[in-house]
Amino acid sequence: MTVSVVLFTSDLRLHDHPPLRAAHDGSSALVPLFVRDDAVAEAGFAVPNRLAFLADCLADLDAALRQRGGRLVVRSGDVVDQVSKVVAEADADDVHMAAGVSAYAQRREERLRTALETAGCRLHVHDTVVTALAPGTVTPASSDHFAVFTPYFRHWSRQRLRDAVAAPRVIRVPDGVGSEHLPSRGDLSGVSAGLALGGETEARKRLAAWLRVGITSYGDRHDDLPGDATSRLSPHLHFGTLSPVELVHRSRAVGGPGAEAFVRQLAWRDFHHQVLAARPDAAATDYRTRHDRWRSQIRARSDIDAWKLGRTGYPVIDAAMRQLRYEGWMHNRGRLLAASFLTKTLYVDWRVGARHFLDLLVDGDVADNQLNWQWMAGTGTDSRPNRVLNPVTQAKRYDPAGVYVRRWVPELEGLSGAAVHEPWRLRGAERAAYDYPDPIVELPDGLARFKEARGRN
Ligand code: FAD
Repeated sequence: MTVSVVLFTSDLRLHDHPPLRAAHDGSSALVPLFVRDDAVAEAGFAVPNRLAFLADCLADLDAALRQRGGRLVVRSGDVVDQVSKVVAEADADDVHMAAGVSAYAQRREERLRTALETAGCRLHVHDTVVTALAPGTVTPASSDHFAVFTPYFRHWSRQRLRDAVAAPRVIRVPDGVGSEHLPSRGDLSGVSAGLALGGETEARKRLAAWLRVGITSYGDRHDDLPGDATSRLSPHLHFGTLSPVELVHRSRAVGGPGAEAFVRQLAWRDFHHQVLAARPDAAATDYRTRHDRWRSQIRARSDIDAWKLGRTGYPVIDAAMRQLRYEGWMHNRGRLLAASFLTKTLYVDWRVGARHFLDLLVDGDVADNQLNWQWMAGTGTDSRPNRVLNPVTQAKRYDPAGVYVRRWVPELEGLSGAAVHEPWRLRGAERAAYDYPDPIVELPDGLARFKEARGRN
């Protein structure tokens, strides 16, 4: 009997899962393994919202494996130790897993390769599991990755993606490999009240609904803040309960401008993954430094706190920050505005904002979060690094009737239409009737003023 171990990481699904398919086709039994990795917790990534979503994903994966005659094996500890133990217990010859892009994922792969080689076991790392196109598949002539999205997208679009692979119908797990109890969402505290459900079953339901009704109007409506007309598939892509390859194929099959715009966003995700794979240090350091001397976090403390709590006095920023806290998710336009406000208006280091987002976002992802923050801070891949988004102009454009703001900032419910975007225009008793802060900074000169102040320090 030949046995393989399938190490699940950010790919918690059975459909279109090349490592699982390869293990199934190449061996008589397999161990589907997930390791609750100590290093992830030590690095501060195991936050309540993502742990809750993860618990849903693992429960759903276990149920799907059981329907096929298998089960999920869960272990905790150092990932290399745990994989080695399971390999020994199952007498496995092969381990299959998905390639990752972060510095941590690259190190994990190296460590696993060394440990398994010593044990006489082969490691197979499959790409195009976490991304549609593997990092490094397309490169410019002079570099190992694209630093600008538009040419990347041109090359990306010309590539033929692999076909999706079918989920195995029957899975045989060898006896004698024990599992810990699966974690449960109910055991966690600090989870956002409006957090979405995780798991592949939920992901496929959402995907089917999105392809049926949402995607066709995506091109026109993706920036509509109150309309909430984006796919909300980001946590499923982050945890891999959906395959990006399958998503591109199925979106293209729908066709039309909405699907094209949606596929372009999926390419943005691949773009950031290929940047991080080549420059893993960009998770923590400027991708392209502009020698910013960000405000001291001690001096900026009250501004940072107001931003985190949604009490900046700019209603659209506050609405977005409160959506983040309540749902563990935020609309992309809200993310852009919140990030521009923190870095360009308050002149606070992008890492402060990126960390807060990672503390709460259910889709919080090193590649997508850090590199989008850098893009907005002007230290990343944006070809217009001085871009500043004005929260009032943007609010009037993307929330013209003020519906999004009133949804998340109930103190301002009484203000109708676009007036809700500028409560400071009210005077006297009318202003006093609203328990809502004055703006913590004036527009548009925040950045210039703070930069100048730093220059004088
Ligand atoms: P849709 O609009 O339906 O897009 C479909 C998918 O395309 C998304 O699920 C996502 O996987 C991908 N995508 C869309 N826009 C981007 C983008 N700009 N960069 C990379 N991928 C994209 N996305 C994350 O998945 N995780 C993060 O941690 C994250 N942090 C962000 C931080 C900031 C400051 C900003 C500006 C953006 C961030 N994004 C992040 C990108 C984007 O905001 C979210 O992917 C999107 O809002 C998720 O909602 P959706 O699934 O409805 O997206």
